[in-house]
Amino acid sequence: MPDVYSIPLTTRFRGITVREGLLLQGPAGWGEFCPFADYDDRESMPWLAAAREAAEDGWPEPVRDRVPVNCIVPAVGPERAQELVRASGCTTAKVKVADGPGSLPADRERVAAVRDALGPAGALRVDANAAWTVDEAVAALTELDRAAGGLQYAEQPCRTVEELAAVRRKVDVPIAADESIRRAEDPLRVAVAGAADVAVLKVAPLGGVRRALAVAEACGLPCVVSSALETSVGMAAELALAGALPRLDMACGLGTGALLTADVVEDPFVPRDGWLPVPRRAPEPVRRAGVAAPPERARWWQERLARVDALLRG
Ligand SMILES: [Mg+2]
Repeated sequence: MPDVYSIPLTTRFRGITVREGLLLQGPAGWGEFCPFADYDDRESMPWLAAAREAAEDGWPEPVRDRVPVNCIVPAVGPERAQELVRASGCTTAKVKVADGPGSLPADRERVAAVRDALGPAGALRVDANAAWTVDEAVAALTELDRAAGGLQYAEQPCRTVEELAAVRRKVDVPIAADESIRRAEDPLRVAVAGAADVAVLKVAPLGGVRRALAVAEACGLPCVVSSALETSVGMAAELALAGALPRLDMACGLGTGALLTADVVEDPFVPRDGWLPVPRRAPEPVRRAGVAAPPERARWWQERLARVDALLRG
């Protein structure tokens, strides 16, 4: 019987306040099926394929036993931003920007404060979550690059692949594709279109560790692995990918465990001094009353699982 969890977030994220998903067990261990509620059944297919890979096949051998992660700086004031960076022990920070109209002055202040806390050797990246037009992105990135004393990259400044390519031609800041890869029909189009310098990979929406490794190889871009806000069961698969990539030159976005108020395992993946271990399999979930979904939500997930499973088996 699969287990359905429902866990409140510490901060609102992607418009949601509670994270839900379903854990399933197979001969190789546990997998997590947790497409966001706004994903339809077809879009949810790779998420189930990734959960099945973890439960039934396990993952390829890693080439490293730990991975560096970035700290996350949400749209907070400069003092709070510095506290978050210093408390994390990370040498890479990812700063959320473009959080609503007219945010540029606050973004600039936050980015400058984070640079101060990181020191000159730290890496500073920004994520606009597709909020800008091309012109807004060019203007904002020019300013933020100056405030940061150099940005490592800007993640998904605009929505479409064509817009990313246009921004990339106009600014010196390297561009990373995130949403463009995870919801694309063809993730490789991003590289072919000259739209990005960095690919952000997520195991769940790409359909598993092996499939994500194939995307990494085919796109030929430096890759960063980022989470889909999973519990530690799904996070284990993201870490397995980060552990198995032939090259990993930049910190991964896998420090999101701290955004969940609880986890389904005894010893969750929370970064220590900016690092996370690469596990060989997902940790065993423990049954905890506080994380079990209410019956109607459990039923909703069982039905979703059955529909997506039918699609996957074709
Ligand atoms: Mg992103």
